[in-house]
This record gives sequence, structure tokens and C-alpha cells, in this order.
Amino acid sequence: MDRPGPRTTTLFSPWHRAFVVGLSYFVAAYFSLKMTQGSTDIAAIWPASGVALAAVLLVGPQQRVSTLAGIAVASLTANMLAGTPLLTSVAFTLANLLEVVVISSLMFRVSHKWVRFDSVRASLVFIAAATVGGFSSATLAIALTGGGTLGFFVSWFTTVVLGTLIVTPLLLTIFFKTKAESRSPSVRRFAQFGALTVILTAASFAIFHTGAYYLMFLPLLGVVIATYAFGPTGSALSISAIAFAMVLGLDVTPVSAGLNLQMLGLQFYLLCLIGAAWPLTAMLAEKERLIRSYAETNALLELAESTAHVGHWFIGKDIDEPVWSDEVFRIHGVKPARQQKVGLKNIADAAAFKLYHKDDRERVRTILVGAMERAVPFEYQARIVRPDGSIRHVHSIGKPHYDRKGRFDGLFGTFHDVSEHIDMVEKLHLARREALHEASEAKRLSETDPLTGIANRRKILSSLDTAASHAIQNKSPLCVGIVDIDHFKSVNDRFGHAMGDAVLKRIAEIIQSVSGMTYYVGRLGGEEFLVVLPDINERGGVALLQLISAKVACENWGEHGPDTITVSTGLAQLGPEGDVNAALTAADNALYEAKSSGRNAVRHAGTVLRFGGGLPQPDNDLLDRMA
Ligand code: GH3
Ligand code: MG
Ligand code: MG
Repeated sequence: MDRPGPRTTTLFSPWHRAFVVGLSYFVAAYFSLKMTQGSTDIAAIWPASGVALAAVLLVGPQQRVSTLAGIAVASLTANMLAGTPLLTSVAFTLANLLEVVVISSLMFRVSHKWVRFDSVRASLVFIAAATVGGFSSATLAIALTGGGTLGFFVSWFTTVVLGTLIVTPLLLTIFFKTKAESRSPSVRRFAQFGALTVILTAASFAIFHTGAYYLMFLPLLGVVIATYAFGPTGSALSISAIAFAMVLGLDVTPVSAGLNLQMLGLQFYLLCLIGAAWPLTAMLAEKERLIRSYAETNALLELAESTAHVGHWFIGKDIDEPVWSDEVFRIHGVKPARQQKVGLKNIADAAAFKLYHKDDRERVRTILVGAMERAVPFEYQARIVRPDGSIRHVHSIGKPHYDRKGRFDGLFGTFHDVSEHIDMVEKLHLARREALHEASEAKRLSETDPLTGIANRRKILSSLDTAASHAIQNKSPLCVGIVDIDHFKSVNDRFGHAMGDAVLKRIAEIIQSVSGMTYYVGRLGGEEFLVVLPDINERGGVALLQLISAKVACENWGEHGPDTITVSTGLAQLGPEGDVNAALTAADNALYEAKSSGRNAVRHAGTVLRFGGGLPQPDNDLLDRMA
């Protein structure tokens, strides 16, 4: 399986890269070997191991072989140039390759990610891998060269481990830092960093050169300061600087047998520096990483809230003003701000309630005080008034919040600006009401006679149909009466069309008022009206038509109108077969008879009731029977 590695640039071919790595290795190795004046003894640290490991960790899986080949050539050349015999050089080279392979394999195996020394775990893995790698390589070196001394073994082991622990993190942190940071650090910071490194190197050189070991706390102090001030890079570079200064400053005496205790002590001193700085570095780096990831998560949350217009708030049980997310501020129409802590005696006193519309305030207060007292979920919708006076509708839904030990510690709520939704719903309601109103108005108009305001022909005939089916169903009587104004044409002719219209309107009113709500009245056309009389027989119908006739005849038409106007009416009862048209024809025939009998008369399909001029006389006999 391929592990994720740093992206490789196409600028260099794998072999170019191997050459650069090899050259770096050679410089580091040659320098270290020169320090020991070509003896078989070893320098205080072996930085070449760190260079090799960093290279293998950084290149992609396909380039590891070429990189290792570059390292092999460099190691061999450096050893030979330093005067080491060929076979011994080959043995040392193999041992050098082994440590790189062992350490990198262990690191790849344990940690899936590229080691960046920004977590405590990754650092521990690295230290353990370096120890195992140093041990393996020292063992191989001794085995191949044929039984070295314990001193040789320990020196090999410590120099490799130190070289790895000091140089690899330095190279990797610098590599990742340059990759991650698009902005170069400020000149001031760079100068501070440089000054600290120079002072530290000079001081360390002086201490080790003069043997003023009582001042050895100073480099340690420098490392701590560099770590705090510049993080992993500061830590790695300061330790490298001290190691460099130590190697330069020490008057290394080659010792061919036994342990060089002085050297060992100094190496342990370096190890202690690493041990002191590393946890601090790792923790600082981890903290920085957590802060970064927290900031990223928070930024995403903010984005989600502002996109969805949903904020959140929390109000603690040990009461304080609610803490708002930025979106809650924005919904309130105010700039996000740091909230001041003001101890409250009761949630009911929270100033935030004042921001609600006065008509909603008490309701919200009651809901939240209740939820706080009983530690229960809650939900409400209310209006808030922004500083500019505009009103927003908000919907809040929330629940009790519990601390890690499961104790109720306050209320958490979401805060959703639903104004647009509410506006839309209100508009929809309004549109629906308007549409309904318009539809009913259109229906009314389509059924109304525009002049008289009573039902038109279509409507009254449809009412007649309905009443007829009802009558058939209930076996109840139903009468239809047609009212026709006598000589209406002459009203128009003598008094004008407007007077004609006024007469039509007034007579429609009279028919309507006599019929009341019980009966249906409509204009059939011209000066003809139809009354539909459910639950009434011919006699009752005649009585009603008589009343209409009498009222019309009594009407005063004013000084510019005719003296009297009369109507002729015809009435018929719906037959048991329920034929509406037959009933209408019968009523029309009766009307015709009333007309031909001299007008101002009520006639029904059976009997003619004649008023013989003058005012129509009510049929007392018939009315009595109706009563
Ligand atoms: P009859 O006694 O036989 O019913 O005679 P009439 O004149 O009343 O009947 P006719 O059918 O000859 O004339 C009806 C007149 O009603 C004719 C028409 O000009 C008039 N008329 C119809 N509709 C209206 C209206 O809306 N306004 C006015 N002012 N006159 C109308
Ligand atoms: Mg007429
Ligand atoms: Mg007519």
C-alpha cells in the first residue's frame, strides 16, 4: 500500500534528487569524520544519519531505492576519503543504510501519516524507532568489522541516535514550514531567530572549548527560550547549533579502546537537551494544531449559521446573560460582540428579554423560566425588535444542557430567523383570501342582475331546479309565480328610461321584501320576475302574489312618475312528476290569462282571482285558511 507522501516536484528526476541527497550526506559524513581525524573513532554525533533519514522520509515510495543508492555512494566515498580501508568502508556503509531502512520502516509501520513531530505520539514513535535503528546499525557495524569494542559499539549507537534525533526533525520541520507558509516570516522575527542562534552557538562553543562546564545550563536555557519563541523550528535549530558548537569546540581525543566517558557524558547532555525540549515542542505544536483545527471548525460553523440564518445561544443555570453566537447578534441587527458577564439572580431578569416585542416578551419569559426550573426542552416563536425598529420573526428550539458529569447546567437553544418564511406564509394567506373573495365576487356577479341586484335568470332558474329536486325528495309542495309589470313600455315611453329603471328596481325590492328570506326571487328578463315558493301550495302562493300586487299598486311613484303601476302574476304548482318546465309554462299561461283578463290580476293554473280595477283585494278566505 502506498502511504501518503509529500508531493514531488517534477523539477528533479529521482537521480538528481539522489545526487543532492548523496552530496548532503557526504558533506555531513565527511565533516564528522574529519572531526575525528580519520581515526576509527567516532565524532560526538553522526549528522549524516539524520540527513539520510530525512531524505528517505521525504521522497515518494518509488524514489526510495535511488535515494538509498545515493546515500550508499556518499557514505563509501566519505569513509574512503577519510582514510578508512575499503572493506571497513563497505561495512560502515551497509550499517549506515541499515539504520535508515530500519528507522523509516518502523515509522511508516506505526504512523500512517508522515511524521511531522507535531504530536507527542509521533515524537515518541520517532525516538523509539531511532533507538532501534541505532542499535541495529551498531550491531551490524561490529559484526561486519569483526568484533569491535564496547566503546565502539556505544559510540556508534549514541552518535547515530543523536544524529537522527537532532538533524532529522530540524530538516523536516524546516521543509514542512517552508511548504506550509506562503508568507515568509517578518525580517524582525528572522533577525531575532538568527541572533539567538548565533549567541547560542558562540556561547556553547566557548563553554565546550574552555571546559567551563558549570555554565552548561546556559545552552539548555537557550533551547527552552528558542522552543517557546519559535516552536519546533526553534527547538530543532537550537539543539543542532549546540551540537555543532560542541563538536567544533571539543578537543576530541581519539580513543581506540574502552569507553570515552567524557564524550558519552556530553552525548547524554545533548540527549537531555532533546528530552527537555521535545515534549515541550510537541505539546506546543499540538496546541497550535488544535487551535488551528478549532478555528477551522468554528469558521465552518459560523459559515453554516450565517448561510442558514440559524444561530445558537446558551444560558447557564448559575445565571448570566445568554451567550450568543455571531449569527444571533446578526439576527438581532447588532454587531457580534464579546458579552459581558453580569451575575443575575434569576433568568427572568435577563436583559435579552427586552429585545422581544412587548406583546411576546412575557410569553417567551414564561417558557424559558419554566424550562430552566424544570430542565425540560422548549420551543417558541416570537418577534424581536431590531434597533432600527424593524421586526424579525424568530423560532427557537432547545433543550437542557448537561455538564460532563451529567448535571443540568443550563439551556441551549437554536435561534432561527423565520421572517421570510412568515412573510411568505402571510402573503400566501392574503393571496388565498383575495382569490377566494374574487372567486365568490365573480360568482355573485355571474348570478346577479346588475340593475336590480336580485338573482338573474340563470341563478333563479338554477334555484328553481334545486328547490324542485328538494320538493320531490321531500314530497313537499312547490309553487312558481311570474310577476310581469303591466304596460311597462308606456312607463318608459312617458317617463323615460331612467324612470323605467327606477320602477324595475323598486318593484324588485317589493317582491324581495314580501318574499323575505324564505323564497327565491329573480329577474327572468325585461320587466318579468320569477318567485320560487317552496313548501307552499297554490293558495299560499296566490296569497303571496296578492300581497306583492297590492304593495306594487300602493306604491307612490313621486310627482315625476306615474300615478300607479300594477302587475299581473301567474302561479302554478309543481306537479308530482316534478317537471319544472311544465310548471313554468303553466305559470306563464296563467300570467297570460291574467293579462288578457285585463291585467292587475293574480291568476293561477286553476282559478283566476280578479281584482277588477282599483286596488287588488286580498282573498280573505284564502288568507284565513293559510293562517
Ligand atoms: P304588457 O302589459 O303586455 O306586459 O305590456 P308591456 O309594455 O309591459 O310589455 P312589453 O313586452 O311590450 O314591453 C316591455 C318593455 O320593457 C319593453 C322594454 O323597452 C322594456 N324594458 C325591458 N327591459 C328594460 C330595462 O332594463 N329598463 C327599462 N327602462 N325598460 C326595459
Ligand atoms: Mg309587461
Ligand atoms: Mg313582459
